Amino acid sequence: MRIKIVLQKTITAIIILSFITHFLSCSNPTEDAADNFIKMRKLKPGVVIINMGYDAVTSILTEKGIVVIDAGISNSLTAKYRKIMENELGRDDFKYLINTHSHSDHTGGNQIFNDALIVGHENCVTEMKEAVKNIDNIKSRLRNIISEYELQLKEQIEDSTEREEALCQKMRYQHTYNDWVNNRIVTYPELTFRDTMNFNLENVNFNLIYFGKAHSGSDILIYVPEVKILFVGDLFSKYGRPSIGNIAKADVERWQVVKEWVNKRSVGIEIVIGGHGQIMDKNDMEEFNKYIDEKWAEVN
Ligand SMILES: [Zn+2]
Repeated sequence: MRIKIVLQKTITAIIILSFITHFLSCSNPTEDAADNFIKMRKLKPGVVIINMGYDAVTSILTEKGIVVIDAGISNSLTAKYRKIMENELGRDDFKYLINTHSHSDHTGGNQIFNDALIVGHENCVTEMKEAVKNIDNIKSRLRNIISEYELQLKEQIEDSTEREEALCQKMRYQHTYNDWVNNRIVTYPELTFRDTMNFNLENVNFNLIYFGKAHSGSDILIYVPEVKILFVGDLFSKYGRPSIGNIAKADVERWQVVKEWVNKRSVGIEIVIGGHGQIMDKNDMEEFNKYIDEKWAEVN
């Protein structure tokens, strides 16, 4: 009799415990460890930048709606960034998304802004199409990157900065891999240009120029005079360190033209934003200009 009572109590306890566990695990079904790595910074009134590892997505509020610069690597992560921006700006009308270049860590989340008009250089579309020709290759490359990070994580010291960074990167690639498994829809810029493009959103202007072949074949600069910000994509990082591949004379000639375009606007530039969220200034731009001059001297 006594054993029976103990048994009944145990069973009741197990049932209650499993209810509690079930309730806790279902209380926030969207909770994701990646959320801890997403950071938001307000650069100016109406200018918000979201970072997660190498992802950097900036939004600028205008009277006619929100303009976003770059879309991160993964649809599922960018959906989170979008929610944060909507909450922060108190609006959900996205007018334009501008891709600084074609690379997947800048265009991977385009689908999340398919209600906006996506803008990019005409080569951006060609390069993106080329990059997604073999989905199986992409998936296996992503699996390899994830395994590399898993190995790193095993060796790194608990709570170290390196470990946190590796964990964050692993999550970015894991989300990207999951996107492909869930049949990601690749979304291309619809509004493209060859040389320059300007558009006005009532109180904010956007000046776009094609940089010429450099970090990719589709790099553009975006200048927003009202907030005094220049976006340089992956062309260079802090101290003007350029991220540029093989170059020809024609490329350097083009850079010289673009340099003049920037110089004309330089009085108004306060902040220079790199493609991975690096906040730089005119000095970094000057260092980059020096590099262009050196290359100019080499080809002339
Ligand atoms: Zn890039």
